[in-house]
Amino acid sequence: MRKNFCRISLLGAGLLTTFPGYSSYAASGGNSSPTTVVIDAGHGGYDRGGIPGQRVSEKDMTLDVARRLKSVLAASGYRVVMTRDSDVFIPLGTRTAIANSNRNAIFVSVHFNSATRRGASGIETYFYSRDSLALASAIHHYVVGGAPSPSRGVRRRGYFVLRKTSIPAVLVECGFLTNPTEAGYAQNASYRQKLAEEIAAGVRSRGSVASSFSTTRVATDETIPLQPYMDQTRVTQSKKSRSKRSARKSSRHKKKTSSKPAEIEARVASSDREG
Ligand SMILES: [Zn+2]
Repeated sequence: MRKNFCRISLLGAGLLTTFPGYSSYAASGGNSSPTTVVIDAGHGGYDRGGIPGQRVSEKDMTLDVARRLKSVLAASGYRVVMTRDSDVFIPLGTRTAIANSNRNAIFVSVHFNSATRRGASGIETYFYSRDSLALASAIHHYVVGGAPSPSRGVRRRGYFVLRKTSIPAVLVECGFLTNPTEAGYAQNASYRQKLAEEIAAGVRSRGSVASSFSTTRVATDETIPLQPYMDQTRVTQSKKSRSKRSARKSSRHKKKTSSKPAEIEARVASSDREG
């Protein structure tokens, strides 16, 4: 594990250059565009991910999609850093340290979902900082568009890897491995390739998202809509947290017209769990 981290750290160093080829993205995004993508394959090693007794191992699916994503992005000219590239356990703090050691970068964490209810299904995409919302919207837009699974929306949640990263960071849950249909998709290599290609399309198009935070952006036919996001909801929740959620829900409705990040932040709980 240590050896692996050292190797990754070395990869993470010296990636501060901006490629001239990305000027077109910079033009559509309005800022200098990140050129390094830090790909985080969820879980690994003794941490299989998912829930106890889950048949399909999440850590293997995330690693495979992450590797495919690496290939697709590298082919598009991006610099790619992997938080893990084998079946090893990497602590969350190490994952965020790798992300934060890269400037001019974005972070994409790949996960699959799980629930005790077999019927739970769909794609959901998480972000935390306001700088990450456009990336979350773009990735969600493409993954939902390319997957037969329903959209569960873009959600704001304080997952450790989202909260502790200082670069735009997104965690995408590519369907439920506890759902027989979605587990079937995930076990198909061409489907995992499709997921990787859609995530990559989101990365490439993140500058085209119409942002409610931007007053200067003009919407065009090619503009990806800013995905509406929900406050955190989990499929497996206690009654207590469910009632908290309803309280939060009603407060959200009252503030429906507000998009001030400070107000959003106050309603978002932090989580040290991985997705
Ligand atoms: Zn996960």
